[in-house]
Amino acid sequence: MAKVEEMKKKFYITTSIAYTNAPPHLGFALELVQADVIARYHRLLDEDVFFLTGTDEHGFKVAEAAEKERKSPEVFVGKISAQFRELTKVLNISNNDFIRTTEERHLLVVREVWKKLREKNDVYLKHYTGWYCKGCEAFITEKTEHEAGPPRCAVHRQRCELIKEKNWFFKLSDYTPDIKRAIENNGQDGINIIPEERKNEILKVLTQEWIDFGDNLAKKTGPIDVSFSRSAEKLRWGIPVPDDNSQTIYVWADALLNYISALGSPESKKFKEFWPPDVQCIGKDILKFHSLIWPAMLLSLRLKLPKNIFVHGFITSADQKMSKSLGNVIDPFELVERYGTDAVRYFLLREIPPTEDGDFTYEKFKQRYNADLANGLGNLFSRTVALSEGVEIVNPKFQKEIERTKDEYKKALDNFKFSESLGFIWDLISFCDKYIDKERPWEKRDNKNEVIGGLLSALGEIAKLLEPFLPGTAKNISEQIKIREIKPLFPRI
Ligand SMILES: [Zn+2]
Repeated sequence: MAKVEEMKKKFYITTSIAYTNAPPHLGFALELVQADVIARYHRLLDEDVFFLTGTDEHGFKVAEAAEKERKSPEVFVGKISAQFRELTKVLNISNNDFIRTTEERHLLVVREVWKKLREKNDVYLKHYTGWYCKGCEAFITEKTEHEAGPPRCAVHRQRCELIKEKNWFFKLSDYTPDIKRAIENNGQDGINIIPEERKNEILKVLTQEWIDFGDNLAKKTGPIDVSFSRSAEKLRWGIPVPDDNSQTIYVWADALLNYISALGSPESKKFKEFWPPDVQCIGKDILKFHSLIWPAMLLSLRLKLPKNIFVHGFITSADQKMSKSLGNVIDPFELVERYGTDAVRYFLLREIPPTEDGDFTYEKFKQRYNADLANGLGNLFSRTVALSEGVEIVNPKFQKEIERTKDEYKKALDNFKFSESLGFIWDLISFCDKYIDKERPWEKRDNKNEVIGGLLSALGEIAKLLEPFLPGTAKNISEQIKIREIKPLFPRI
């Protein structure tokens, strides 16, 4: 058995790790579900898949949120992290591991990596004055439009604060030519950023003008070096810099390493088997960290770069950003409780475009549910099984249609086009509906075996295609076909 595992192609997929300053929202549910489809699909291709998710637990914002609840940061992140773990359960996510950045296995790797970067002089001490955005937990270094007073963060629109301190800096600028090459040439040893527009966005960042506020507003083409530590007086909740207790390791330098530490360390057997990541799923807001700082750290450590970075968009609620003050936040737990795991998975994968922003409303949700799940799939399943007593499963007359669906489905899924891939399955479902309407097996008894037997076979194929997307439903269909039992898959709402 062990031999067989070793021969299988290894496939390493990660989500970003969720920041534990607030409970899970629908956007992270989307990321989990997308990554889960890819992981399950590759397991069905008989690959040895390692699927990682987890929580990012250090930083100012976490400490602040804990203080607001009058809890210690340890207790606070324990509670929030457990909620994210629970979310993986209710969404039926097939992750192999769940890492927390407060775990010992992670701290060990962060310290080890820091020492390696120090030995190479890729981190160095520098007195620094810079504009800092608390929302980003980062210094603002890109050119932004100027107005009087402190600069505003382009993401958070809030004024930055001036910070004067001595920090450890990372030589990001040394690696940017190699990163640019890796992103431009996305073949062997390159990073393929999906979709194309996100790739172009990063290539633009790599060539635009950056401002070094700490160096009398010196301007430079391409990224400047980034601060990799904070004063421990200001940031206590984090990993102390090895051999310098006055500094805490910057949250991103800490968090990004989870993709390594979950495998052990660069010397471990598991790491050697699974590195580099085949797919890293992230949201568009953290693309820069994953396509600049992260590859630069890997280049410094002489580790291979991730093969694909898949970037999803945001989910709006009735075309507005979800926010507590607007009262339009959609709770993924509540949604699953009301409509079921697979209904939520289906909506996220079918209605939300994989790499663009998408919108959630209860109306859209119910529309998708009733049209596609209750009427489309559910109805075909019920009417076929209802007529199946004594019928043997036979090859359908429309086998060609099924083969074509499989090809199109695979092509779309290989390119992360989840919605399109599901669309091909539903084309086959409606083809089957038309077929049964035309053949009317409930009237002409002599064609019942051919028509219903063929449709049972087609439903078996549909179940297989659905497996990465709706694993629970796929299992129900396969089992109920065997025992010819109808439990409605999706009751109308
Ligand atoms: Zn910001």
